[in-house]
Amino acid sequence: MPKNYFIGAGLSAYFSQLLHWREGDVCLYRSKNIGDDTIRRPELEINKIFSSNAKSYGSTRYNLARSSLHDRSTFGGNSEVWGGFFDTAHIKRLDKLKADGIKLIPLSFNSTGSHSNISSLVQLQEPDGEILNAAHHLRAGSNKYLHSLDFESGHILLKCVSPEDPDGSEFLADGRVFVCTGVVQTIDMLMRSNLIKPGDSLTLDEFEYELHISAMPKNLDSREASVISYAPGRALAHLFGIQKANFLSSFTPFVVNQIFHAYKRSLRMEAGINVLSGAPDLTGNEKSVHFGKSIHYCNLRINGERLQDMAARLSTKLHFVGMASVSQAKPGPISNDIFSYLEKITNEF
Ligand SMILES: Cc1cc2nc3c(=O)[nH]c(=O)nc-3n(C[C@H](O)[C@H](O)[C@H](O)COP(=O)(O)OP(=O)(O)OC[C@H]3O[C@@H](n4cnc5c(N)ncnc54)[C@H](O)[C@@H]3O)c2cc1C
Repeated sequence: MPKNYFIGAGLSAYFSQLLHWREGDVCLYRSKNIGDDTIRRPELEINKIFSSNAKSYGSTRYNLARSSLHDRSTFGGNSEVWGGFFDTAHIKRLDKLKADGIKLIPLSFNSTGSHSNISSLVQLQEPDGEILNAAHHLRAGSNKYLHSLDFESGHILLKCVSPEDPDGSEFLADGRVFVCTGVVQTIDMLMRSNLIKPGDSLTLDEFEYELHISAMPKNLDSREASVISYAPGRALAHLFGIQKANFLSSFTPFVVNQIFHAYKRSLRMEAGINVLSGAPDLTGNEKSVHFGKSIHYCNLRINGERLQDMAARLSTKLHFVGMASVSQAKPGPISNDIFSYLEKITNEF
């Protein structure tokens, strides 16, 4: 039977494995050796006081104005520090999560320290109440950093580097390939693969996002926006990277509202040689826009072509899984969009 390949060690890799892994499939996780053309990008790093310390290394410099992208290249990725919010509204295979021991806890100040105007939101938790961390669920694999992709007579060629193979190793995949390497590292890898070339234009979208303490903004249409309200103790714990509710989580002298508005913004970038430059699109006389605050940016387009269409054009077996491949229909958590995207991938190809 053809082997499937799963690359990456974050939430998307976990969801991909949960829905599509079969005996004999191969999992490749990022190794420490990621090639000679590597630079450190502190501006892309996202760490919290109580999280492990992750550094961003890659082959592309990000020269972005009024924008933040994030690269957490660890075993677990962003799921080590995320909020765990997941919208169950259109998910068919919740049974898969439950069978893997994941608890789907409805939001309430007593249980999760949070509340939402969207009743179908839950927090994904480990059996001990910790917020789901993909690192606890990933299958055994080997440490290989995906350097680039190539295509040979209908098969996908994965070019990898690792400390054991400093000169690199190659895998000719006859099954499906799930590339779950996060937005930044996916762009890096596409540039190394020459699938993004100097002069190409790239865009990402996100729903406008803001934080408000207690009062809601006057112009908010709460039927359309997605609001997650935190007890102050829980908000502070989230900021510090404490991934479990505690006795302070239900104390609500005021709340911190995380608002995902129902209108989108875009980040427009242009590729150079090992560099990506860009800024958010502005409408009218806006000056204070900052793209990336939601950390739910998605829908990567390269010269107008969606990433998932690019994958289908290159090979029917290739799937980029993660925020870059989904387009959110409504504001709020994005992990459910990634899960839905995977649900639509059938086992025939
Ligand atoms: C603070 C924070 C809070 C969030 N809260 C929520 C929330 O409550 N709900 C929600 O829906 N979303 C939330 N998100 C967004 C959510 O965490 C992401 O959508 C999700 O983690 C994306 O997972 P990913 O696996 O695609 O990417 P990542 O988490 O970035 O993982 C990428 C993985 O790929 C590996 N990798 C990278 N490059 C390579 C390579 N070349 N070869 C091999 N491996 C590689 C990395 O080591 C890493 O393990 C939050 C994000 C943050 C940062």
